[in-house]
Formats: sequence, structure tokens, C-alpha cells
Amino acid sequence: MRYQKGTDRNVTSKWARQTQMVRAGTMRSDFGEMAESLFLTSGFAYATAESAEARFDGREEGFTYSRQTNPTVAMFEERMALLEGTEVGRATGTGMAAMTAALLCQLKAGDHVIGARAAFGSCRWLLDTLLPRYGIATTVVDGTDINAWAAAVRSETKVLFLETPANPTLEMVDIAAVAAVAKKAGARLVVDNVFATPVLQRPVDLGADIVCYSTTKHIDGQGRCLGGIVLCDKAFDEEFLYPYYRHTGCAMAPFNAWVMLKGLETMELRVNAMVDNTEYVAAALAKLLATTRHPSLPNFPQKELAARQMTRGGTMIAFELAGGRDQAFKFLNALEIIDISNNLGDSRSIATHPWSTTHKALAEESRLELGITPGLIRLSVGLEDKDDLVRDLTAALKAAGV
Ligand SMILES: *Cc1c(COP(=O)(O)O)cnc(C)c1O
Repeated sequence: MRYQKGTDRNVTSKWARQTQMVRAGTMRSDFGEMAESLFLTSGFAYATAESAEARFDGREEGFTYSRQTNPTVAMFEERMALLEGTEVGRATGTGMAAMTAALLCQLKAGDHVIGARAAFGSCRWLLDTLLPRYGIATTVVDGTDINAWAAAVRSETKVLFLETPANPTLEMVDIAAVAAVAKKAGARLVVDNVFATPVLQRPVDLGADIVCYSTTKHIDGQGRCLGGIVLCDKAFDEEFLYPYYRHTGCAMAPFNAWVMLKGLETMELRVNAMVDNTEYVAAALAKLLATTRHPSLPNFPQKELAARQMTRGGTMIAFELAGGRDQAFKFLNALEIIDISNNLGDSRSIATHPWSTTHKALAEESRLELGITPGLIRLSVGLEDKDDLVRDLTAALKAAGV
């Protein structure tokens, strides 16, 4: 690894984002390969015993074991950290491994966490079930109500945790306002930025301390590999994240990191093309269904906030069918192009019924409180032809009696 072209932050931080996504973090071996190398190796050999000792002491730069770092994974981490504007990234095996690491690495029994109630189902499980099991108190608040965040703060509050736009209702939380509450409380703000993607929203610029992704979504973007990443500053990494990461073994596999690197090269192009499609599909759906929700629509309740913290409204649409589960299932079963699945951010459009799948683990009243009704459909818009998508949706709505 003597020839490195994309790793000097003094140079790469001056590049435009699209250049960073294609080139930043690249390390080349002496062969001068153009594409990033896939280092499918669990460990690394040392020239001498002294060198092994020095690497373990941190006196010598280099790799030791892929549970800690691996060249392919390190390239992905560096590229993501640069995109996000943080010093450090730690890539994990899944998005949930990233969320869990970001929370557990810094918490201990007796601490308190405040979380937004509208969240990915498994993130809610961390708050509602896992953390309390270890003596970490949690309070779930209406994330849109800034006074509720402030009112929930206690002297033991260490972390505020939110997702925006939230899955699946697209409810938005004011990141800067919650960051101010966190700062005042001496707590850290952790943001799950999956729905927005690094292209459309930069939580660190709004005051977030730690940003997490499921890279399974738009970063891979082609439905191939699971992955996650936690992005933070160096001090947090050294004190909390890296010790947790290396000793609990939540690392991303080198192969998956290689796929993610390839995904990043086209992410901005894909996300922008997907948002173009999403805006077109949302406008068409809105003519048929008043319940259609997307930040680009005139009736979106948090339009001002969306414009303030996101560059565009994202690739997800939600809408509700008055006929509940039966009508939702009829609609889903009538789709010819769009798949019934639970992933999102894929180049293939995907329709999901959160009530019966992704959010089923939540109690019925919690789902209803979040606006997840039996008739709610979540649509992840992909890269197919936009008129084909509208035709498919229109026909399926008609088949379902809309
Ligand atoms: C998918 C997702 C996760 C979890 O990611 P996995 O890669 O599936 O583990 C967390 N948060 C949000 C908002 C997600 O969409």
C-alpha cells in the first residue's frame, strides 16, 4: 500500500462531493490497480516480531486483523467520513449493528436516553426493550414537538436519538433544534440518516454528534449487501466507539465494503434520479389519493422544515388507503412492476405494508400513534421509467377499488 492517492484529507476535503464519491479514500497497492482492491483476508502478517508488537501498541501504522480494520473497509470508511464531514467512520455488518454500536458503546446502567417515537421498528426495539434490560432508562417522545424533547431531559440523559424523515410516515424532526437541546443537556445527538441519504441531508452541519446509516439502502442501492456505518469525531471514536467495535466484532465484511464503495460512485446520480422519479410519481398519486405524502407536495405538513434541512424531499412516499388492510393487500397484489418487499433505497421500486411487516413488532396502539394504520403503504421509488411506475400504481389502485 505504498501508492495512495485519495487518503490525504488536505487534498480530498477540497474535492467536490461527486469527486469524493468516486475517488476519496482509495488506497492502491504496488500493482496500481484502478478499481479498489478487495482484501478478502482475516488477518495480516508482520515482517518481524518487533513490527507485530509495534502495531499492537499503535506505534506502527498498519493492519492487524479484519475485525478491527481491513484495507477495503478502511477505504469505504474514509470515503463515507469525508462525505459526511466527520473525522472517523466505522463500518458494521448491518445498519442495526451501527445503530446498536452508536448507542451501546457510550451508555451504561443508570444512564437515560430520549428517542423520537417515529422510528424504524428495530430502532424502537432498542429503545423499548434492549436498553431498559441493561438498566438504561429510555423516554420516547413525539419527535416533532421540541418542547417534549426538552421536558424529557434528566440529569442522567446521555443520548438523544432520532430519525428524519422517519420510517414509514416521513415525519420530520428539526435536527438543529434537537441538537440545541442535547447540547444544553450535555448529551450527544445520534441521527439515523438512512431515509435522507448523505446526498440530501448533512446532520453534522446541523449539530448532530454521531450519524448512522444502514448502507444496505441507497449506498449499496442495488439490493445486494447488508451494511452499516457509524460516523463521529476522533475523540468519541477513541473513547467509546472503537473499543466497542473491535471487542464486540460488529465489523463489515471486506466484500460488502467493496460493493458499498462501488455503490458510492453512483450514489448521487442514483439518488437524484430516484428523487426525480419520486416527485413525478408523488404528483401523479396525489391526484388520485389525498393521503399521498411527500415533501415535494404542496400539502406536506412540514414543508418549511423539509426545505430547511434537506436539499430535496427524498425517495420515499407514504399513502393511506381508506379500506385498511384488505384494500392495501389488494393494491399490493395487483402491482405488476413494483415489488412487494421491505427494503428501500433500491434501484427497483418497492411497496411495503408496514403494519403487517416492518412495524409488526410494535404494539397496535404504538403503531396507530405513529400513524401506521392498516391501510398505510410505504413506497420506495427506484430507477424504472417514471411513466411505467405511474401506470403500474394507477392500475393497482384501480384494481383495489380506489
Ligand atoms: C433499514 C434501516 C435500518 C436498519 O438497517 P439494516 O441494514 O437493515 O440492519 C435502520 N434505520 C432505518 C431508518 C432503516 O431504514
